[in-house]
Amino acid sequence: MAELEGLEFGKSDFVLLDEVNMEQFMENLKLRFEKARIYTFIGEVVVSVNPYKQMDIYGKEAIDAYRGRELYENPPHLYAVADAAYKAMKRRAKDTCIVISGESGAGKTEASKYIMQYIAAITNPSQRAEVESVKNVLLKSNCVLEAFGNAKTNRNDNSSRFGKYMDINFNFNGDPTGGHINNYLLEKVRLLRGGSEEMLGSLHLQNDPVNYVYTREGAASTVSSTSNNDRSNHRAVLSALQVIGFSEEEIDSIYRILGTILILGNLQFETDSESVQVVGSEAVSDIAGLTTTEPDNVTKSLLYRTVATGGGEVIEKGHTEKEACFGRDAFAKALYERLFCWIVARINAVIEVKDYNPVLHGKNTVIGVLDIYGFEIFDNNSFEQFCINYCNEKLQQLFIELILRQEQDEYQREGITWQHIDYFNNQIIVDLVEQPHKGIISVLDEACLTVGKVTDTICLESMDAKLGQHPHYTSRKLTPSDKTMEFHRDFRIRHYAGDVTYSVEGFLDKNKDPLFQDFKRLMYNSSNPVLKEMWPDGQLSITEVTKRPLTAATLFKNSIVALVDKLGCKEPYYVRCIKPNEMKSPVLFDDARCQHQVAYLGLLENVRVRRAGFAYRQPYARFLQRYKMTCEYTWPNHLMETDREAVEAIVTQHGFQDDVAYGHTKLFVRTPRSLFTLEQERAAL
Ligand code: ATP
Ligand code: MG
Repeated sequence: MAELEGLEFGKSDFVLLDEVNMEQFMENLKLRFEKARIYTFIGEVVVSVNPYKQMDIYGKEAIDAYRGRELYENPPHLYAVADAAYKAMKRRAKDTCIVISGESGAGKTEASKYIMQYIAAITNPSQRAEVESVKNVLLKSNCVLEAFGNAKTNRNDNSSRFGKYMDINFNFNGDPTGGHINNYLLEKVRLLRGGSEEMLGSLHLQNDPVNYVYTREGAASTVSSTSNNDRSNHRAVLSALQVIGFSEEEIDSIYRILGTILILGNLQFETDSESVQVVGSEAVSDIAGLTTTEPDNVTKSLLYRTVATGGGEVIEKGHTEKEACFGRDAFAKALYERLFCWIVARINAVIEVKDYNPVLHGKNTVIGVLDIYGFEIFDNNSFEQFCINYCNEKLQQLFIELILRQEQDEYQREGITWQHIDYFNNQIIVDLVEQPHKGIISVLDEACLTVGKVTDTICLESMDAKLGQHPHYTSRKLTPSDKTMEFHRDFRIRHYAGDVTYSVEGFLDKNKDPLFQDFKRLMYNSSNPVLKEMWPDGQLSITEVTKRPLTAATLFKNSIVALVDKLGCKEPYYVRCIKPNEMKSPVLFDDARCQHQVAYLGLLENVRVRRAGFAYRQPYARFLQRYKMTCEYTWPNHLMETDREAVEAIVTQHGFQDDVAYGHTKLFVRTPRSLFTLEQERAAL
């Protein structure tokens, strides 16, 4: 049990609540936040509330306090879960993972950084140079990914616009030997709009972000908390890139691509008499210069597309002004996406475990850290929210499955009878989205592949036809009396976390995510080898290009399915992050907002699951160590033969023998109250 600090700080574990209900849960959460206790356990899960101020709880002293200790010996902390995951990995050679979830601004990325720092701090005590270098690169990679993958949004000044899963590999000594990053990039649009500060600050093209349409559109170019540090951030990013091993040429190419993106954003078209033209010649020559391509070819790809006719003939077709604008923006987004993915791939090449021989080096184990977007409900929800929320359905399912499975496994191992617990299985919602031939993604894909004019509304109609009867799907068309659904273009999913209404507008375009082959070819033909490497598909001629490329939703689905598979075979640890208010205030606790998050994170269910079984379990020796002074048979002298017998004596003396079960190595306590009594008695001595 977590060290009791006294009840004025609230209960350090939600399973200790007198009753499991929302009211008590919220009361405890709020009290702890107000007392600057930002972490609280639910068994092994850590619930975290963003403090929005620097806390003095992450230093060396704290690291020493948590290192190698059991979860309940210290107050709740990220370090406690990090250590638990590390111990399981090291002692039992288990692959483990730490899943960090919560909405934007709840503190996921900060948590993942503290966890990484903790792991870095407790490993490699002998300071071996090669391990230090691996650790260094792993830590630096965060800085680079943030520089390129974060943006200011109205919810978070430093919002990650990509999901990140990082595996850290360990050798038999428990020292890091390498790692691998998977990125789940979604919001290219917002990334461009939000204009990562470091990226802009470091460009030196033109210092004022207001001069660029892409960055100005966000109307958030000056981030009070970061803009003063542009220069030092730039240096940090540059040095991180160098430490990781990016060459001068590669770093130069990165900045050239960023420059190209900004110029593209400013580039305008005009229609004179019949044809569409680029306004001014400077932009085109700048782009050609930055990408080492021919200005004529740049102009051509901006204004024409190559198409194959039915007869196998290849012709060039001029864009309308609208098409040209669409192509330009798609090109800018694709440049950014490919740059980001290339950077991740480059980092992976450096941190990949090389020459690992299991016979020589022992089993290679892994700790995975997942920092991924949480459930999103906005006033206007679009394709991005649809994907994000689908991802959260998948993770929620994994959560239930793993937490229950973990419990079940432990009871079995310890020879204790398991009782079944009822919980809402969200498989039905997952199916609604991803089922082949029937699910929403499949209907969307079908619409995207249909030749001819399929509009978002037509697509919605076919969704209604296929899914209208589904208990978790409603369409505006089907319930015209529902005033909360304003448009005929909405559909609603009853998610496990609540109802979300999505507007289908733009779904098809975002799902198709089309980019004219002409741009790919332009980039492939660049004399800059780095750029060329990013666009291998540019070598295909128009007749070779696959007519049925995978759609954005399907690609996303595939990557999430792979992620869930990866997590599913690991022992999971969870950090559930809560954002206390919308004002970034360290003192405000917005009850309604917090309650909403508690509900959709399924925290009450989590407490119930934990309590329905045995709320607490502890190895006999540890239990004895902690409570021996409360019993005459064990204090001052241990009169029993075995630890288990001694524990039985303590339990019996305090009269809660009906509340426990004796496992092979551990004592299991059903209700936390019993332990709570013990704790109080211990404290009173
Ligand atoms: P997103 O989904 O948008 O990426 P996030 O959950 O990753 O959001 P963070 O970027 O981790 O959110 O946190 C947002 C901000 O909150 C941080 O920039 C920092 O100012 C503050 N913050 C979060 N956690 C802590 C903490 N433990 N201590 C102090 N400040 C914190
Ligand atoms: Mg983040």
